[in-house]
Amino acid sequence: MEDLKAYIREVPDFPKPGILFYDITTLLQNPLALRMTVDRFVWFFAQKQVDKVVGIESRGFIFAPTVAYNLNAGFVPVRKPGKLPYHATRQSYDLEYGTDSIEMHNDAIQPGDQVLIVDDLIATGGTALAAAKMVESLGGKVAGFGFLIELTFLPGRQKLQGYEVESLIRY
Ligand code: AMP
Repeated sequence: MEDLKAYIREVPDFPKPGILFYDITTLLQNPLALRMTVDRFVWFFAQKQVDKVVGIESRGFIFAPTVAYNLNAGFVPVRKPGKLPYHATRQSYDLEYGTDSIEMHNDAIQPGDQVLIVDDLIATGGTALAAAKMVESLGGKVAGFGFLIELTFLPGRQKLQGYEVESLIRY
């Protein structure tokens, strides 16, 4: 489990002073680490019925389509406001200072769809919870969350209490 950690590059003070950024590009460029990451995501949810895999812009887009392909599911992009061309639902969430929003096409989820939500990293859990609220507002059911990296010193997992939350690397 922790073997994948060796492929994560920690970049201090990016994108602003005081933030330690977990850079996954070093993992992505390694063929074995990339394969292990996708395979582990798939293994966590292989026993579940998954109809759609939601990927959160932008680094969620790196894994979600491949995980969807392997689970025989569809892929749904969750995007930053104003990027989706058709009728979309919007969900706001709190940041350290201020708020942010994400959007999903209204017809991306069908009532009763079992939905897996994938992102590269969970910090406070605000983005992931906002994605779950959108899925549920469209009649979908959240089958679980998959994150490459979990920051356990932040309350992300608590925010997603009641859901299955899987992570591959923990700090
Ligand atoms: P949160 O909503 O607080 O759980 O933040 C999660 C989102 O912010 C994910 O889409 C991550 O890609 C990004 N993120 C937050 N903190 C970091 C970090 N230290 N390094 C890399 N990405 C981060």
